[in-house]
Amino acid sequence: MKIKVDFDLCESNALCESLAPEVFELDDDDFLQLRTEETTPENVDAVKRAVAACPRAAISLED
Ligand code: SF4
Repeated sequence: MKIKVDFDLCESNALCESLAPEVFELDDDDFLQLRTEETTPENVDAVKRAVAACPRAAISLED
């Protein structure tokens, strides 16, 4: 699945990074960066937890 982030909604609180640091990373300017845009069998559970945890509903998954 493709990982999408609505950067207009993101408030850079790093919740997703704490749950899936292999995918989400805040840069030095506190902008969220995606380290990959595709889920893998290894990261998909963590990515789904990040989707559920994001208080801004900024992360979504697309087939
Ligand atoms: S959890 Fe949501 S609001 Fe927080 S940094 Fe990640 S995408 Fe942005």
